[in-house]
Amino acid sequence: MDLDKVANDITKVLVTPEQIRSRVTELSADLDKHYAGKDVLLVGVLKGAVMFMADISRAMQIAVQMDWMAVSSYGHGTQSSGVVRILKDLDADVLGRHVLIVEDIIDSGLTLSWLVANLKARGAASVEIVALLRKPDAAKVQVDVAWVGFEIPSEFVVGYGLDYAENYRSLPGVAVLDPKIYS
Ligand code: IMP
Ligand code: MG
Repeated sequence: MDLDKVANDITKVLVTPEQIRSRVTELSADLDKHYAGKDVLLVGVLKGAVMFMADISRAMQIAVQMDWMAVSSYGHGTQSSGVVRILKDLDADVLGRHVLIVEDIIDSGLTLSWLVANLKARGAASVEIVALLRKPDAAKVQVDVAWVGFEIPSEFVVGYGLDYAENYRSLPGVAVLDPKIYS
């Protein structure tokens, strides 16, 4: 669904589909170089990372495998709870493999720092993160994100996989949700 169809629900478009496409091309070239000759498992975090995973994996030119995890974070609200629960675990064994977590957005960083520790504890050879978006609050929790698509302000955003109460995921770009929608 095009962004203009939800013009009344958003206050501004932060990242256009064109900007995403060109950044995905740059990131995937970096990832190809970094992981050349390695056994890479892309781990997408459901559901928000679906679009980013689909685009980044297709833009990468090295062979990768893909798996998915679902963890709870926000529920239906707009604030991170800090409580992480595995709703769907990986099918793959990560022992000795290079894991690249593909995430939509890092806000508090709580979800990701927990996930990195969890995957390292399973014996992954390396665990890195590529995130499409990062908010300034991410600085509060120590989580090293090797690749970030865009730094954005601390506002609640939707689109390109990101939702509010399961809506707006199918938008092709990232937009700030009008606070009237959730207040
Ligand atoms: P964190 O634990 O605070 O870093 O939150 C991580 C997760 O919360 C992300 O993977 C998203 O699913 C969700 N999230 C954080 N900020 C936003 C936002 O602005 N819009 C939609 N979802 C968000
Ligand atoms: Mg997410």
